Amino acid sequence: PEPAPEEPPAPEPEPLPAVREPASLAGTEEAPPEPEPVAEPEPEPEPEPEPELEPVAGPEPEPEPVAGVEVSPEDFVFDAADLFEAPVEEAEAAQPIEAPTLEEPAPEKKPAAPEPPTPVAPTVDDVVAAAVADDVPKVDLDVLAVADVGKVAVLVSEILEKAVRRGSNRIHLLPYKDDFFLVFRTKGKLEKIGSAPLSMQAALVEGFKAYAKLQAVPNTLPALGRMKTRIAEKELVLTVSSVPTVSGQRLVVQLAAVKPKPRALAELGLTEAEARALQAMVERGRGMLLVCAPVAGGRSSTYYSLLDHAAQVGKTVYSLERSIDYEIPAVAQVMVNPGSPVHAASYFAAGMRQDTDVMAFDAIQDVEEVHLAIQAAGLGKLVIVTFAAGDIVSGVRRMLDMGAEPHSLAAALTLAVGQRLVRTNCPECSMEKSDSIAAKIPGAPKGLKGWAGTGCDSCGRSGFKGATGIFEVLPFTESVRSR
Ligand SMILES: [Zn+2]
Repeated sequence: PEPAPEEPPAPEPEPLPAVREPASLAGTEEAPPEPEPVAEPEPEPEPEPEPELEPVAGPEPEPEPVAGVEVSPEDFVFDAADLFEAPVEEAEAAQPIEAPTLEEPAPEKKPAAPEPPTPVAPTVDDVVAAAVADDVPKVDLDVLAVADVGKVAVLVSEILEKAVRRGSNRIHLLPYKDDFFLVFRTKGKLEKIGSAPLSMQAALVEGFKAYAKLQAVPNTLPALGRMKTRIAEKELVLTVSSVPTVSGQRLVVQLAAVKPKPRALAELGLTEAEARALQAMVERGRGMLLVCAPVAGGRSSTYYSLLDHAAQVGKTVYSLERSIDYEIPAVAQVMVNPGSPVHAASYFAAGMRQDTDVMAFDAIQDVEEVHLAIQAAGLGKLVIVTFAAGDIVSGVRRMLDMGAEPHSLAAALTLAVGQRLVRTNCPECSMEKSDSIAAKIPGAPKGLKGWAGTGCDSCGRSGFKGATGIFEVLPFTESVRSR
């Protein structure tokens, strides 16, 4: 759901001096190119752990998702390093299976190298061309020939229930040449469930849209709907997305388990002082609270913890979100639909008129949205925003690059949080390590000891289990603002 992959830290030294000139003119600043040291020391020590995040159970340090409907991490956790590493590894890993002749490994690697273009997962072409497997649920699409609204509604329920029972987390209606295909995504892989002539697809698309109360959106426009429902004894959130493509209507249903309450701020991995600072900001603060996190950096956990805390201390909260990961009954949550002709700005303006103490905007993406947040902060609201960035400094810098006005942004910002996720040691098999990195951490308390998981059944021999956030919290004092 998030827009950009990790960003390289500080790649653009060029635009900075220009952007900062006004600040220097204001008179507090003599060396414009040096604002970085303020916050950079913190993220520096551990640039490494990130790639390791991939195998973690999910992008957020959640308790285990409900079995069967978990969102597989490969759906949205992506490490750019894969672009360079994966094909080679795959080719090598595949070899012992395909070619047991271990005598001549060297010549064999050569033919393997040109192979990477062959995708590891079956392509859409493969999926539609394949025969329906024996073990997938049987769905009879012939009833669509009659296009009876009642029968189609029954078919939609049947498809949903079969997908949930199978543990699939996506349902695709895929137009392809003269046919359309019903495809499930199960454990990360697409599997064909059935197909029918393309002329019969419209009825089923209408059926799904009706289920998600999207009938009013014409098929010529993208549609996005979300609903809570109960299917096969599971509480689920369904997100239905429909887009007209050149080959026909493409509809995808996402099935996700309803998440429990967001965690308390104190449980995210913040230090006590940091958690207190965030609580105080939510309780008494004004201006902009900016959360910067890379993709799959635990952004939404922090966002919802902040909203939940605000609601609990009696604030009225209005939240614009691109995907709703938690529902908090006391918060006015609005899903911003990318296909909607109504812009985020209109929803934001509407929220300002709703007697709102806290305006929140998850995953702001463009300069218009930054301006909205700055404006609201200028009106004395507490504004909580999240932004995809590797750390606070690169987040602020990117907002400036996007065209945010430096003075207004500096004036609006009150507190910033930078965060990412790291895997935690498996509690079952962790051992104290003597040659630990702990001793090398500058300013580490005396007696800080290193631990490492050794690998056991409970952690799949990885030595890691779960994840926690690591944070930097930066108050925008006058001296930070002037830089
Ligand atoms: Zn273990």
